[in-house]
Amino acid sequence: MNEVPEISTLANILGGKIGELPTTYLGMPLGAKCKSKNIWNSVVERCENKLVNWRSQYLSLGGRVTLINSVLDAMPTYMMSLFLIHGKIIKKLDAIRRNFLWQGNGEGEKKHHLVKWEAVITTKKEGGLGIKNLKAQNKSLLLKWLWRLAADEQGLWKEIIIARYGREGPWTTQEVKTPYERGLWRTIRNQWQKMWGNFVIKLGNGRKTMFWNDVWVGQTPLRQQFPNIYNLNQQKLATILEFYNTLEQAKSLNFEEDKLLWKLDKDGKFRVKAAYKLLDISIETKEWCPWKMIWKGTIPHKVACFTWLVANQAVLTQDNLMKRGRQLCSRCFFCEAEIETVNHLFLHCKVIENYGNGSLI
Ligand SMILES: [Zn+2]
Repeated sequence: MNEVPEISTLANILGGKIGELPTTYLGMPLGAKCKSKNIWNSVVERCENKLVNWRSQYLSLGGRVTLINSVLDAMPTYMMSLFLIHGKIIKKLDAIRRNFLWQGNGEGEKKHHLVKWEAVITTKKEGGLGIKNLKAQNKSLLLKWLWRLAADEQGLWKEIIIARYGREGPWTTQEVKTPYERGLWRTIRNQWQKMWGNFVIKLGNGRKTMFWNDVWVGQTPLRQQFPNIYNLNQQKLATILEFYNTLEQAKSLNFEEDKLLWKLDKDGKFRVKAAYKLLDISIETKEWCPWKMIWKGTIPHKVACFTWLVANQAVLTQDNLMKRGRQLCSRCFFCEAEIETVNHLFLHCKVIENYGNGSLI
């Protein structure tokens, strides 16, 4: 930074302290490179510190899932709402969350990870535990800035960004192409194409809507609906009539400004949750199972989590232990007639069935 003459005198007059960059301001790194891994150190540290307290307590799988969903997933959210998360940091945070999730499964240091992590971080509806996919969460949080730039009436930050990068149409800035511009806005602006397909325009006074290029009537831009007219080729009369009819819809113009509407939410407002669903492409293909039933029932959460393990055939039955290298002679502990598998133990074992019927009680 530039040298400031008489800095200590100025600091005395203003009653401030002399600091150095990079520093932290309102919990955000100031003066650091936005793509640096180091700006995430405090987030990783805070997650690790949480684990120190939690590890000393006995927690069920359900308890651990709740803590991950409500605390560990939320801790990087503030930073992720502004910065693109580094791939190596995702790996670190995933390792922290994964190891905590499966702690308690196995002896000593070696813990069994019972279900693939890719499957765990899908939504409950798709067969996961609803633990966040950090990459998708990060991008959906960043998309909110594009929405705010397009939809907010005013804001100093908006004016600064537009002044710095220039407008491209009424809804966003120009693309940031220069290689040395590795700033925050370049990362965010790069998501615009992905975002644009999920908007429709609500026509107001027609000032902001590009006649040929925006989707304001029908499902595609008029240049695609009427390519011949668009290219100024000769057009048959019928098509021109059709074209005229669409113009009739412009009668609905009024005095309000044109507005962008987000297609994925009913009220047309952008929500991170809907964007997350759009971006979460980590969904594992699984055999169909009525996953919803597990979570919609009125059973305690820890029982639902255990049922989820059973549905994944991932409980540490003897056959699963053998797959993990344990030397065993597998026999069902109850009937001693069959190999102990998840299906046998929870569905087919005659002895357990009799317990259920009350005949052995
Ligand atoms: Zn049995």
